[in-house]
Amino acid sequence: MSSTTMSSTTTSRDAYDLIVIGGGFFGLRLALHAREEIGLDRVAVFEREPEPMNRASYVNQARVHNGYHYPRSILTAYRSRVSSSRWAQEYPDAVDADFTHYYAVARKMSKVTAKQFEVFAARIGASLADVSDPFIAGAFSPLIERAWEAEEWAFDSRKLRSVVLDRIAAIGGIDVRLGEGVDRIERIESGLAVVTPVARASAPFVVSSVYSQINTLHRASGIPTVPLQLEVTEMALVRLPQRFRKSAFTVMDGPFFSIMPFPSRGLHTLSHVRYTPHLRWLDTAAAPDTRAIPSVEAMSAGASTFREMIADVRRYVPALADTEYVDSLREVKVVLADQDRTDSRPILVRTEPALPGYVCIMGGKIDNVNDVLHEVAATLDLGRPFSGDPTNDPI
Ligand SMILES: Cc1cc2nc3c(=O)[nH]c(=O)nc-3n(C[C@H](O)[C@H](O)[C@H](O)COP(=O)(O)OP(=O)(O)OC[C@H]3O[C@@H](n4cnc5c(N)ncnc54)[C@H](O)[C@@H]3O)c2cc1C
Repeated sequence: MSSTTMSSTTTSRDAYDLIVIGGGFFGLRLALHAREEIGLDRVAVFEREPEPMNRASYVNQARVHNGYHYPRSILTAYRSRVSSSRWAQEYPDAVDADFTHYYAVARKMSKVTAKQFEVFAARIGASLADVSDPFIAGAFSPLIERAWEAEEWAFDSRKLRSVVLDRIAAIGGIDVRLGEGVDRIERIESGLAVVTPVARASAPFVVSSVYSQINTLHRASGIPTVPLQLEVTEMALVRLPQRFRKSAFTVMDGPFFSIMPFPSRGLHTLSHVRYTPHLRWLDTAAAPDTRAIPSVEAMSAGASTFREMIADVRRYVPALADTEYVDSLREVKVVLADQDRTDSRPILVRTEPALPGYVCIMGGKIDNVNDVLHEVAATLDLGRPFSGDPTNDPI
């Protein structure tokens, strides 16, 4: 992995064609796109943590969304169908399809009935087949109205990171500056500058891809904030009883649970709509909330709601009661403030008129990446030569 650069002023070494803030999957993939597709010569990725792709790009349910999850947002569901296959084709080594994914609908408290879920799946062209394994078919309690086999995969975040970093190393021209958090962005004569505790770097274009830390960066840079809902989330890492190890379970649509393979650790994650969020807050213009987003390390220890989660799981799939708790992953999850009601996951690509050349992105889910790349390139017109005067370069 690339080393950290130490300097207090901008040197020619710190002058780039594009600076990306945030070395998650979206930031790294954007840097690659800028080199591979657009042909920019010098690109930098500034990442606050000592490792790239170690926050939300690692701490997640690892689901390559294929539409099923979004019966309340047909647009997100349909887009997922399109983008998941494309995503799986681009990263075949990171895709885990070696399991059967069972979707189920609960009789009570569900926002969707079995019939409605079938109609929805048919509308987006997603298959729902009868459960073929009699053991699994018999494992659901009467609280489940109906269960099906769905076509949905998981991804291995560590393999994905290797694929992306190998491509970065192969093409060259991308400085991945680890352990260098950007404190703020400034407008300067030649474009934009980013300021870290130890360096100052400049570029005509700066993209922030910092997921839950968008508003921290915006506040420090005098940029209007984005209305966000943030949640401290816990996903329990578990070892399923042997008979279930090649299975995933998602109960729709309400206060239920998901059990997904987590290929990076050879385990499963258990998450629950009611118990996975430990703390939730809004950060909007009307109700700003400036609390700091904890580092990965600061979140590594904490209380677990595994007992509550598994107690609910056994009501719906009693044979999963012997699931063994291993440990927990924690991350601050962010969604646009108005998206919780429908569960939709649109992409955010937002410019700032006072800072020409700046754009802020948020992908929502991993398979949205190509939509984001396309929008950023079009919004910033990254391929055009920069005049040197940001006021002459309207976005
Ligand atoms: C609990 C949970 C479950 C999820 N489940 C799924 C799922 O199953 N499927 C799916 O597709 N999506 C899922 N998601 C969403 C998915 O994880 C995110 O959409 C995706 O990982 C975002 O990638 P990213 O690169 O934007 O963010 P990140 O991977 O978080 O990268 C942002 C990076 O920016 C860095 N950073 C922040 N501020 C600064 C700064 N000022 N200077 C320098 N660096 C900075 C951070 O350290 C971080 O590494 C889930 C998310 C969570 C939290």
